[in-house]
Amino acid sequence: MTAADGGRAASSAGRRILLLVGSVGAGKGTQAAALSKELGLAHLASGNLFRQALREGSELGERARVYMERGDLVPDDLTIEMFMEELSRPAAARGAILDGFPRTVAQALALDATLAARGEQIEQVISIEVPVEELVARVAGRRVCPRCGTPYHVDSDPPRVAGRCDNDGAELQQRDDDRPEVVRARLAKQVVPMLEVIEHYEQRGIVQHVDGRQPIDAVTDKILEGLRG
Ligand code: AMP
Repeated sequence: MTAADGGRAASSAGRRILLLVGSVGAGKGTQAAALSKELGLAHLASGNLFRQALREGSELGERARVYMERGDLVPDDLTIEMFMEELSRPAAARGAILDGFPRTVAQALALDATLAARGEQIEQVISIEVPVEELVARVAGRRVCPRCGTPYHVDSDPPRVAGRCDNDGAELQQRDDDRPEVVRARLAKQVVPMLEVIEHYEQRGIVQHVDGRQPIDAVTDKILEGLRG
């Protein structure tokens, strides 16, 4: 355990499970990567897992493709199966930051049940909140390295050389589903289920609300402060 996590005990069976919730563009992925490094926990991002499956042309990827291209959520059964498998891998043995999962109450219930069966539970749900009008503008500037997956933003987190990945020099790309019309579709379809997930955990009193309009480092600090209780 690092000093940064305040020495707080993990859930009963030892693993520390944190959930990051936020709309597309709220900074969820960026915060998850920072927290994963700071706290030494695996970063499990359902969107990345689906995109990897698409690149590999696996059966899962092919089944998810049509939903992702429309900005819809992938059906729960497919998503739950994929994510639970990921959560049981050795990489997540110390704990994990869940980014993008659960996105529906059905997924949350499946996750809660799986964890409970192992004597585990979610320690905290971190909700990163940004007004809708700012989200679409933010997402338009997002770029990603197609080779190593590192995310950038043309304004707030640019690479050292414009359009090139700092790690491997690959030409940065815009995700198909980051195009403004798809972003608007994703927001319209995904915000209500997300609010229902937050409400589900609100009943357990474990939700930390964070203002996502602050600079990236300030958001990370606020989250860590909230974790220290
Ligand atoms: P993200 O990178 O988290 O925005 O995810 C990209 C896309 O993957 C989403 O628009 C959905 O189509 C799909 N996806 C990711 N996570 C989930 C989830 N938990 N449930 C259903 N679909 C998901």
